Amino acid sequence: MINKPSVLITGASTGIGAVYADRFARRGHDLVLVARDRQRMEALADRLRQETGVAVDVLQADLTDARDLALVEARLRDDDRIGILVNNAGTAPAGGFVDQTPDEIARVVTLNAMAPVRLARAVAPRFVNKGEGSIVNISSVVGVTPEYGSTVYGATKAFVLLLSQSLHFELGPKGVYVQAVVPAATRTEIWEHAGKNVDTLPAVMDAGEMVDAALVGFDRRETVTVPSLPDPDQWTGFETARRAMIPNFNQVHAAERYRQAAQLSN
Ligand code: NAP
Repeated sequence: MINKPSVLITGASTGIGAVYADRFARRGHDLVLVARDRQRMEALADRLRQETGVAVDVLQADLTDARDLALVEARLRDDDRIGILVNNAGTAPAGGFVDQTPDEIARVVTLNAMAPVRLARAVAPRFVNKGEGSIVNISSVVGVTPEYGSTVYGATKAFVLLLSQSLHFELGPKGVYVQAVVPAATRTEIWEHAGKNVDTLPAVMDAGEMVDAALVGFDRRETVTVPSLPDPDQWTGFETARRAMIPNFNQVHAAERYRQAAQLSN
C-alpha cells in the first residue's frame, strides 16, 4: 500500500478548513489541524478518526503570534510525513479602512499574508529536496476585485494569489505543485467576523461544494482554481491581457503620453 502524505491545514477548526480536513481524511490522508480553538479541532479530530480511521494531530496555534507560528514552521520543516500544506486560515476585518485600527490591520496582514508565506517557506526546501509536495493557498475573488471595498482583506488575498502564481513558476519545475484557490462568497463564520450578513448577498456557495470543486482543480493540477466562475475563458482572457503587457514593461524611456507632458513642465 502506498503511504499517502499527511496534510497540514491551517484554520481547520471551522469553515473551509474544516471541510478540507474532512475531505482529505476521506481520501485517506493523516492530518495535522492548526487553529486557535483546541476544543473544536479535538471534536473534529475525534469524528474524523472514528469515521475514516486516519491519524489526526491537533496543533493549537495563533498564527499572529510569532512563537506559535514558529512551532508550526518547525513542524512543517521537520515532519517528513507532511506532503501537503493547505494555507487556509484567514479573517476579514469589519468596517472600512479608516475604521480599522492600525493594530487590527497588522493582525489581518500577519494572519492572511505573513503566515502563509512563512509556512510555505518553512516547507518548500523539504518539498524541493524531495522533488514533490503540494501547497494550496486560499485566496479570494476579493483579491482581484478592488470594487468590493474590502481594502486590507483584498490586498492580502491579492498577495496570496501572486505568491501562489510566482511559486508555481519557481517551484513547479522542482516538482512542487502550488494551487491558488480563489473562492467567491462561501457560507462560513467569516461573514460574522466581517460584520456582514451573508444572507443579504445575491449568491453564496456552501463550503462543502466550494472545497469539492477546489479539490477537482487540485487533482487536475490547476494553478488557479476559481470554483464559482462559470466560464473559465474569462480567467484565461484576464491572464492573456496581463501577459500581453510583459514584453512592453521595460523601456529606456517613459511612455510618450508622460514624456511629452514632462518635457512641457520642465
Ligand atoms: P472562518 O469560518 O472564519 O474560519 C477561519 C479559520 O481560520 C478558523 O478555523 C479559525 O480558527 C482560523 N483562524 C482565525 N484566526 C486565526 C489565528 N489568529 N490563528 C490561527 N487560526 C486562525 O472563515 P472561512 O470562510 O472558512 O475562511 C477560510 C479561508 O477562506 C480564509 O483565508 C478566507 O479569507 C478564505 N475565503 C473565504 C471566503 C468566504 O466567503 N467564506 C471567500 C473567499 C476566501 P480559530 O478561530 O479556532 O483560530
